[in-house]
Amino acid sequence: MRQLSMIMKHRAKHRVQHGALALTLIASAVHAMAADAFADNPKADPDQRARAAVAAMTLDEKIQTVFGYFSTDFKGTAKPKEGVPFTAGFIPGVQRLGIPHQQLTDAGTGVASQPNPSPRQRTALPAGIATAASWNPALSYAGGAMIGKEARLSGHNVMLAGGVNLQREPRNGRNFEYAGEDPLLSGVIAGEQIRGIQSNHLVATVKHFAYNDQETGRFKVNVKIGDAAGRMSDLLAFQIAIERGNPGSVMCAYNLVNGAYACENDHLLNKVLKRDWGYKGYVMSDWGAVHSTIPAALSGLDQQSGWPFDQSPYFNGALKEAVENGHVPQSRLDDMVQRILRAMYANGVMEHPVQVEPEKIDFAASAQVSQQAAEEGIVLLKNRNGVLPLAGTQRTIAIIGGHADVGVLSGGGSSQVYPIGGSPVPNEGPKTFPGPIVYLPSSPMQALAKRLQAKLVYHDGKDAAAAARLAASSDLALVFATQWTAESIDQPDLSLPNGQDAVIAAVAAAGKPTVVVLETGSPVTMPWLANVDAVVQAWYPGSRGGEAIARVLTGEVDASGRLPATFPMSVDQLPRPVVDGTGLPEGSRFTTDYDIEGAAVGYKWFDKKGHKPLFAFGHGLSYTSFKYTGLAAAAKDGAIDVSFSVTNDGKRAGKAVPQVYVSKAGSGWEAPKRLGGWDKLALQAGESRATRVAIDPRTLAVFDSASGKWKIAAGEYTVILAEAADAPVATVKVRLPAREFAAGGR
Ligand code: BGC
Repeated sequence: MRQLSMIMKHRAKHRVQHGALALTLIASAVHAMAADAFADNPKADPDQRARAAVAAMTLDEKIQTVFGYFSTDFKGTAKPKEGVPFTAGFIPGVQRLGIPHQQLTDAGTGVASQPNPSPRQRTALPAGIATAASWNPALSYAGGAMIGKEARLSGHNVMLAGGVNLQREPRNGRNFEYAGEDPLLSGVIAGEQIRGIQSNHLVATVKHFAYNDQETGRFKVNVKIGDAAGRMSDLLAFQIAIERGNPGSVMCAYNLVNGAYACENDHLLNKVLKRDWGYKGYVMSDWGAVHSTIPAALSGLDQQSGWPFDQSPYFNGALKEAVENGHVPQSRLDDMVQRILRAMYANGVMEHPVQVEPEKIDFAASAQVSQQAAEEGIVLLKNRNGVLPLAGTQRTIAIIGGHADVGVLSGGGSSQVYPIGGSPVPNEGPKTFPGPIVYLPSSPMQALAKRLQAKLVYHDGKDAAAAARLAASSDLALVFATQWTAESIDQPDLSLPNGQDAVIAAVAAAGKPTVVVLETGSPVTMPWLANVDAVVQAWYPGSRGGEAIARVLTGEVDASGRLPATFPMSVDQLPRPVVDGTGLPEGSRFTTDYDIEGAAVGYKWFDKKGHKPLFAFGHGLSYTSFKYTGLAAAAKDGAIDVSFSVTNDGKRAGKAVPQVYVSKAGSGWEAPKRLGGWDKLALQAGESRATRVAIDPRTLAVFDSASGKWKIAAGEYTVILAEAADAPVATVKVRLPAREFAAGGR
């Protein structure tokens, strides 16, 4: 009886939330009582709750749960009535069982909108690559918690965020959404963002599984890669993100992997993800990534998303028929639904229903979170003669380019967050997807004006000679250079677009101290580097980017970002000097061979090949300096425990990012060294602190596909304490015994 009254009470709540509930359903509620007593009990185990709910569902209700709509009118298909408008996805709930609608929003920098005349306006975090550049997991968590909260108050309970594709390709148009080139750093940063998002009782989605590392030909490219190489690179990033963040869902990618679409890839979905890693959540497709019913269902896809993007509503009537005629076992459909509901129960989605109530968003608090991430993600690449922080002695400063008088740039595509107040540079860029180009109204120039006595004069930088004349008549020139990158298009090369290199060169030649601020989504080359005094990589710095840039330029905060990706000298240093698929007719099928570099992504490739980059992975200057002492390493639990002390031996407070790389002679590793761990410490001038870094055992191991195990070889390992991949400060050796552990372990 207690159970029955609980069910009635719970459902009464949903009656209010969803509207009418026919009394006749009470009979079926009683019938389902034994089964879904668990489902209605928030304290019960989420697996049991999901199982109970599945047991009470009809075939049609199950099919409805695995079939997703686009929540925006598209290709003649209207958005579902109950879906939040201009958003990514909608899956109807099952009211009689207290299962709410799934309302899905993009993405990693905040609550996005599909383009429309009045998009919802929300707080944007700095780009994912910027948060990764902070090397500060706590900031990633805080950012996730902030955007998750805004997502909830915008009526969403699933957030398509947790982008962790490795930066194998510096020209990839979506690098800004991800967290760089190293599996450990990327995995930790993405995992913490996921944890932050889900702290709001939402489901987060790690994506795009897997190897969606270029946009050129993204729907047709077949990625060829060996199993072991993948497990030690791209898949390791996902594995770490999943174990840290425990996301309710995984989004399978557009591309093919070793001949099979990622969304019907038995090896990736069933074997690696669900069996080896023991993943209990669900796999949702990317929008337009499903190509079949039976193979997809049997290969591990649990939910078709945004079906109008696909050729057919594969997981609707066709799936129902496949279940009815036995091509897809009933148990498999039950497993799909079980996984979806489990993710919802595990995250408290049922107990914390969402509503559209944006008036409750505390935008000032959100802005603070975004600003902090931006500040710590800004990387000071070069600083000749201490030109930065700005001394405040200049009488006039020329501010050139990048619309720095009104705002900062953001990256384009489905992740686009529209800023409060709208873009101060309207009508820029493509009229259709992935446009428009959106600037966020946080002006670096205005933020500098609040902090400096100097007269600031703006020039749009379109005319190099005029910009140079302004620089010549000023005491210092600040050039803002931008590179808009976006989903669906890769960059043609590593150069800044629109003749900006020539503008910077001309300004530098004017002979005044010249500082370049880069707002780019990925690495660029800098032919003018020797002629400028300072370079600041600000990425896409988010809703308060102007303030963050000004605070770093003036030294109100230390420059504490470090590169999460190598900046190459030229495309000739890359495994693929030309992005595969470039120039092929639209819709062509082609293969890209990731076995060229295998797991040697980014700095590992540069190390292995002996290439000297423009700026190394991990590089970034501070306004103070640090000294490292007492490096020691000990074998612990089959891995390595590293300890050392950091002293701020400069004159001002700052943040150090000591990086610990590991290396083993004759190991057969993909590269000479791997990042094994790091720390980020805030230190006052003169302050010292001891710290410990536990090395992730997978960074000491080789994956053995034959046995399906990670294997750490017995022998001597070198532990390298460094300020960047190319800047070691101390090394120590440690012996480890042989050890092996399961594919899903550590
Ligand atoms: C993107 C996903 C996104 C989805 C929904 C796709 O084009 O690849 O990252 O979540 O659209 O908008």
